[in-house]
Amino acid sequence: MIPYSRQNINEDDISAVTEVLRGDFLTTGPKIKEFEDAICEITNTKYAIACSNGTIALHLAGIAFGLKEGDAVIVPSVTFLATANAARYCGAEVMFSDVDPDSGLMQASDLEHALKRCKDLGLNPRAVFPVHLTGQCVNIEEISKTAKASGLKILTDAAHAIGGELHGKPVGSCDHEDACAFSFHPVKTIATGEGGAVTTNDAKLAAKMRTLRHHSMQTTPKKGAWCYEMEELGYNYRITDIQCALGISQLKRLGNFVARRRELVALYDKLLEPLAPVLKPPPKMQYCNPGWHLYAVKIDFAAANITRQNFMAALHDKGIGTQVHYIPVHTQPYYKKRYGNIELPGAESYYEQTLSLPLYPTLRNEDIHFIVNEITKAIQVKNESCCNNSCQRRL
Ligand SMILES: *Cc1c(COP(=O)(O)O)cnc(C)c1O
Repeated sequence: MIPYSRQNINEDDISAVTEVLRGDFLTTGPKIKEFEDAICEITNTKYAIACSNGTIALHLAGIAFGLKEGDAVIVPSVTFLATANAARYCGAEVMFSDVDPDSGLMQASDLEHALKRCKDLGLNPRAVFPVHLTGQCVNIEEISKTAKASGLKILTDAAHAIGGELHGKPVGSCDHEDACAFSFHPVKTIATGEGGAVTTNDAKLAAKMRTLRHHSMQTTPKKGAWCYEMEELGYNYRITDIQCALGISQLKRLGNFVARRRELVALYDKLLEPLAPVLKPPPKMQYCNPGWHLYAVKIDFAAANITRQNFMAALHDKGIGTQVHYIPVHTQPYYKKRYGNIELPGAESYYEQTLSLPLYPTLRNEDIHFIVNEITKAIQVKNESCCNNSCQRRL
């Protein structure tokens, strides 16, 4: 079975982990800072705070922003649940924004609309969490202009985007945002098992997230090295040295991972060209060079005369895994119950047609040829049973 994504673990990774297992610190040891320093170097930021997972990275930044009950956070509806849930953990309400139907990315105009809806509903928008969907980036220059004009804090969800470049800078550099959150779940570009990190150039924000991660414990040396105080509610959101050792080892290969992902994307693009306009490769943004976590195509299933369900099943029968990223979060029962039915036509149109094809560094070129062949057949076989030959030729 070819999955839609998978981790890449080699002997160096295994040695790095076993070395920690033989050492003195399984957690709160030296590997944490070493991993954080490596993240700072790769993202070109001053501070990185590693934590238990990507969801918690979002939550930590949200608390550090001071988000609370009575606030609203603008979140694009096409994202993983975690982006919206992190705002709720802080007690804030979620104002879902629409996205561009072709790329699934939030645009500055979507943000403006969401801000207007906040105003109409008497909500107090305090932050926006833009999402670099699939590794393609939002135009953060434009979004930050709109956000800053309204006094919003900006936390970018870069769970998909490590290793990419945006406006000529590494993703996560926080040139235009207050903080950036990453995930190191095994389906993502680098893996630590579970794991996440926040990057920021703001010293106060960084210090706050660091203490929040560790129960907000402040040592008070005046009273003795054993003494500590907790002024506000903190958490155990730590990551282990075992995970960080794996992360450090993985980051050494990030450049290779991204280079290979880009090669595979170029090959898919080329081989899938004949299937346009029924199947369209992801649009490419001039302002970014993605690290490509996902290769999400848009398929006009109505024109291909097959449902997405049947299409995915046909590929599954051939041993090809695919996935849908994502069911718009505003349609989840929890959010529908909370906010009622919201209409976001861009998000819904993107969702109707999107499908993520397998993408990971050890995928071989011949695998891509095989996948594209099977996709072509899955679309055509269905057509044979329902149309004449001219219809097939059009495909
Ligand atoms: C994976 C993911 C997260 C959450 O990361 P975890 O490490 O699984 O908690 C958040 N946002 C997006 C867009 C993701 O894909």
